[in-house]
Amino acid sequence: VKGYEGQKVAVLGLGRSGLATAHALEEGGAEALCWDDSREARERAEGQALILHDLTRADAWQDVAALIVSPGIPHLYPEPNRIVAAAMEAGVPVDNDIGLFFRSFADGDWDSFDIMPKVVAVTGSNGKSTTSALIHHALEHAGRPAQLAGNIGRGVLDIDPAHDGEVVVLELSSYQTELARALTPDVAVFTNLSPDHLDRHGGIGGYFAAKRRLFAEGGPDRAVIGVDEAEGVYLAGQMAEGPADDRVIRISVDRKLTGPGWQVYARKGFLSEYRKGRQVGSIDLRRIKGLPGTHNHQNACAAYAACRTLGLAPKQIEAAFHAFKGLPHRSQLVGEQDGVAFVNDSKATNVDSARAALSAFRHIRWIAGGLGKEGGIESLSAKDLSGVTKAYLIGHSAREFALQLGDVPYEICETMAQAVARAAGEAQPGDTVLLAPAAASFDQYPDFEKRGEDFARQVASLMSGR
Ligand code: ADP
Repeated sequence: VKGYEGQKVAVLGLGRSGLATAHALEEGGAEALCWDDSREARERAEGQALILHDLTRADAWQDVAALIVSPGIPHLYPEPNRIVAAAMEAGVPVDNDIGLFFRSFADGDWDSFDIMPKVVAVTGSNGKSTTSALIHHALEHAGRPAQLAGNIGRGVLDIDPAHDGEVVVLELSSYQTELARALTPDVAVFTNLSPDHLDRHGGIGGYFAAKRRLFAEGGPDRAVIGVDEAEGVYLAGQMAEGPADDRVIRISVDRKLTGPGWQVYARKGFLSEYRKGRQVGSIDLRRIKGLPGTHNHQNACAAYAACRTLGLAPKQIEAAFHAFKGLPHRSQLVGEQDGVAFVNDSKATNVDSARAALSAFRHIRWIAGGLGKEGGIESLSAKDLSGVTKAYLIGHSAREFALQLGDVPYEICETMAQAVARAAGEAQPGDTVLLAPAAASFDQYPDFEKRGEDFARQVASLMSGR
């Protein structure tokens, strides 16, 4: 990445993205001064021939042109990060890898970018990964070169578009949009807003403000905006120049949208696209196996709209949706036997995402539990649980969850192997055995991916009769 030739740039946080940033800066002729509070991380950087520079020292900021902060570091809330605050006080511009990406791009001075890609940026509280992956998948399925980066897949400074008109699909968390000094995608997507991650943004206002930065003046050519919350209505209203302005595409899974603008909505499993008051596209989402549930219909509407702005035809998008297998660990069908479906939603680490997963199926044999969050599953209503035939509880929170299930039958299973065996043994044709833990995995696994893999492995060995 160029723009800092011959200058010193500090890099805070030496995880995957921090290391990629440091290398990209060095390749562009800058001197990367690296720091992480963890000694282990510092040693890893040294092992990659990077230069360490103690950013906690008072004189750390002399001749430093910028500070690049990793997305994993909370910079302002719940407490200001000391190093970020010191840089700000010293007048050093603070940025992140996303800002570097857009900056070097806008200048057109990034060597590898002789070919200008188009950039689609996806943000929102839930469904970012699914929506980004779906856009990327649909483009590739239609034969358009595309790359997926950001919070998902590769670090943004690791990608290297090689084709004219290539599309870079970026998944951006609110942490990333908040700090980036340049943020100029061609298409910006806002899926939804829920009061999640609030502590890091000083309340809902700050959280919304972080996401809104994508839609600022001089922002995207097109904006796809979910209007099922008041914030989305507001955002779309602020961007539109008039009722028929098709810079903004409104999406909803809540209601039929009307008016002369461009809109995509899903009702009763049926997606409709209207432009200038006329229906121009539709898809029967109920026939699409990889996208079960209203929450996925929302993701489908957002991805559909983004693909339309990039020139894909409704039929091309529909064909791509049919071929979509779902992302690993997110309502992913991992097996089917004797009419019983096995679905892995290990990513449902909190109550809200478990609720979304539960609403997508009926006749559910529900595998839940792990390291529960505060309150356990007490916020699940009888209606949320109405599709559950029986719960198979695992991990640390098994007993707590058992007390919060109301009338739903349950069994304490301790381990995944036991839960899968019991659920599969009792399942009837038409049932879905669903792993949607509503809890973190750390009591039994290193991360939610390992937990989902264990589930899939147990299902596979059961199906092969071992
Ligand atoms: P993100 O990248 O925003 O965390 P993902 O696409 O990885 O979102 O989905 C994470 C979990 O959140 C999924 O397992 C699913 O249960 C739930 N989810 C997915 N899409 C939505 C949505 N549009 N609204 C609410 N919940 C969702």
